[in-house]
Amino acid sequence: MRLALDEAGQAVRGGDVPVGAVVLAADGTTVLAAGHNEREATGDPTAHAEVLAIRRAAAVLGAWRLTDCTLVVTLEPCTMCAGAIVQSRVDRVVYGARDDKAGAAGSLWDVVRDRRLNHRPEVIEGVLAEECAALLTDFFRAR
Ligand SMILES: [Zn+2]
Repeated sequence: MRLALDEAGQAVRGGDVPVGAVVLAADGTTVLAAGHNEREATGDPTAHAEVLAIRRAAAVLGAWRLTDCTLVVTLEPCTMCAGAIVQSRVDRVVYGARDDKAGAAGSLWDVVRDRRLNHRPEVIEGVLAEECAALLTDFFRAR
């Protein structure tokens, strides 16, 4: 989560909401890829931290299936990212702060653990949650 927090900090430089994500390899420690929110920086509405990290991890592995991988993200994934998580077949999602307004991994929806889908990753929430949330609160307060 430390690496994801560092990544989130980089989003601010591009004027983006500080959300960061990393994809860990099957060993649980090797970082395959990282990403931070780049919607403002790139003008791409799909440039969320998770989507970018997943795309980069797949490029590193040379395959779309991120089986045995772990996605670590500072904020609970939205519906789009939850969809990307299910599609990528990551084994585990670890997130920091809950997103009661748009979260799709246990708060408003639970897309990643929907029993109607053929892949359901393990979800671990609340890791360094206060620190992850503070980053967002500070960002919005400063605006
Ligand atoms: Zn998202």
